[in-house]
Amino acid sequence: MSTGRLAIDLSAVVANWRALDAMTACETGAVVKANAYGLGAVEVARALARAGVRKFFVAVAEEGAELRRAVGPGPVILVFSGHMEGDSDLIRDHDLTPMINSVDQMLRHVERTPRQSFGIQLDTGMNRLGIEPEEWAALRDIAIAQMPILIMSHLACADEPDHPMNAKQLRIFRELTAGIDVPRSLSATGGILLGPEWHFDLTRPGIGLYGGLPFAQAQPVVTLDLPVIQIRELAPGETVGYGNTWTAPRRSRIATVAAGYADGLIRAMGPRAWLYHGDTACPVRGRVSMDLITVDVSGLAHEPERLTILGRQQGVDELARAAGTIGYEILTSLGPRYVRSYTG
Ligand SMILES: *Cc1c(COP(=O)(O)O)cnc(C)c1O
Repeated sequence: MSTGRLAIDLSAVVANWRALDAMTACETGAVVKANAYGLGAVEVARALARAGVRKFFVAVAEEGAELRRAVGPGPVILVFSGHMEGDSDLIRDHDLTPMINSVDQMLRHVERTPRQSFGIQLDTGMNRLGIEPEEWAALRDIAIAQMPILIMSHLACADEPDHPMNAKQLRIFRELTAGIDVPRSLSATGGILLGPEWHFDLTRPGIGLYGGLPFAQAQPVVTLDLPVIQIRELAPGETVGYGNTWTAPRRSRIATVAAGYADGLIRAMGPRAWLYHGDTACPVRGRVSMDLITVDVSGLAHEPERLTILGRQQGVDELARAAGTIGYEILTSLGPRYVRSYTG
């Protein structure tokens, strides 16, 4: 077998959810959009539902429909993109709760699915999704009369605790929801860490569940082992890979492992990433190819069968740093060729 093995520790996901839940006095939901950040929405959501999660968030109605089949009729499934044209059947048939983002979505919802629950998403300054303050001033009383189950907004800079935008959005969210007796939610992972003022009635962590920053205390969730296909000895002066970007300064042993940028190990990480054999770090040499990565295993006493690129020694955020990106992108890029296995 020459595909990588991606092991996903569901007990670590549950432990991370419990740890984030313990930081607040309110309910803690779970964001499982984009196939639970690439780790498998069905498996992740089932484990979290067993642990007590009652509210799941997805990006689009199609994800919600798939999730409903996985978790059954109990949990509430909320859809960030709201009620789009073409969503009404999915929303009704799979009992989804759209987060309404505009007057148009509100009208569509009450016309097409009048008995279906909904929430309201407000824009407090991120300018990405949600009803804007002026629009909300006109819509507010009508919307509240329809009995939304949640009012939420999203923080733009919550991973930077000292950023003035956090306090600004908190103030605007309070103003927009003053005197309204509907449960409120403002915080994802970063907002939970900002403190109790940001928690309101429900939090919506995503990345923290999956072991990523800004939740620095998170337990790691993923291990990715790649099989070694070939090992060769290089004489000093020989080169490795496309473009001859690495030249062996001395006798070197190079292992070729079976994964590349087509599997989400993005090319930009090339010269700064490591693979591990136990605790021994082996540097990537030359360019990352589509299906292959070349690794310097000169430091190992024997020929390895597999090397680890994500695990205890190098987590998603370290790999992200090597590639000039964020852990979110590393996780959601993990490709379909890996054999995924679940523990816990
Ligand atoms: C993705 C997302 C979340 C989860 O964010 P994390 O930073 O992964 O915790 C919460 N709310 C909204 C609106 C989102 O888009």
